[in-house]
Amino acid sequence: MTMRVKTAPLTYTILLTVIVSVIFLISVVVSIISLSNDQCNCSTAKVKYELVPQNRKKLISNKHKLAVLVPYRERFEELLEFAPYMNRFLDSQNVDHDIFILNQVDQFRFNRASLINAGFLQVKNDYDYVAMHDVDLLPLNPNLRYTYPEQPLHLAAPNLHPKYHYEKFIGGILLINSKQLELVNGLSNRYWGWGLEDDEFYVRLKDARLNVTRPENITSGVNDTFRHIHGKERKRDSTKCFNQREVTRRRDRHTGLHDVKFDVVSRKNMEIDGAPLLIINIRLHCNRTATPWCDCSTKKGDQKG
Ligand code: UDP
Ligand code: MN
Repeated sequence: MTMRVKTAPLTYTILLTVIVSVIFLISVVVSIISLSNDQCNCSTAKVKYELVPQNRKKLISNKHKLAVLVPYRERFEELLEFAPYMNRFLDSQNVDHDIFILNQVDQFRFNRASLINAGFLQVKNDYDYVAMHDVDLLPLNPNLRYTYPEQPLHLAAPNLHPKYHYEKFIGGILLINSKQLELVNGLSNRYWGWGLEDDEFYVRLKDARLNVTRPENITSGVNDTFRHIHGKERKRDSTKCFNQREVTRRRDRHTGLHDVKFDVVSRKNMEIDGAPLLIINIRLHCNRTATPWCDCSTKKGDQKG
């Protein structure tokens, strides 16, 4: 009897110890598994963290900030390629950048120059330099550097652009610092429809004694330096109406950043394949007395070309 009384608590004690140890072991195993899950979530979260513009800026400590200004209307397929590609390209060069899609939402003809003026006025206090960037032109050669330019840097140079090869060509992709863009009063607002606004801007830079520079030591040539995503379905609006032809041939010493008229209808943050961008919906105004060719639909006998 005494023996049994003594043995029973001993057995229970051993049993209890075993149960407690098993529970302890299970909880250790469970916590190790959940810890490794946590770590896995952490690393996913870090990738997401890097793609948010605000946070990305904290990770990159470059001095100058670039605003990529993209004049835009109805080029969605091009944009789907442009945004993720450019974001990666600029990240790989450690360029602190944000992409702005300047979406023209009024009923007038496309005005690339006024969109750039309007976009610049939105960003100029926060960015040290801009890239005026066509949505359909992708840099292929990593030696095309998007770093801060002391002088205007025309990346889509005539010896590199797939289509335009004249010496004074300055379109496609142009980098310029914010001070110099202000100095020349931006671009002319008189150019509605396709063409010539870039040529007029070239003269503005020359008159202000700025040196247009071009990339050096690029050996990839006109076919392999850029990809121009421009199918036949993308027609260029080269109609001329009223006295557009005569006026737009001339240098414009009056219009630009100071007098561009527009409303920002809305701003939308977007992400395409992880690339953050800001769409700015811009309604341009047209002074029909000064530039009646912002709308050729009322004029009979429009001329093409
Ligand atoms: N663009 C646009 N929608 C238009 C016309 C032009 O978005 O209807 C923008 C777009 O960024 C394009 C740039 O303006 O890349 C230059 O126009 P386009 O490609 O027609 O000119 P190109 O340089 O090919 O002659
Ligand atoms: Mn094009």
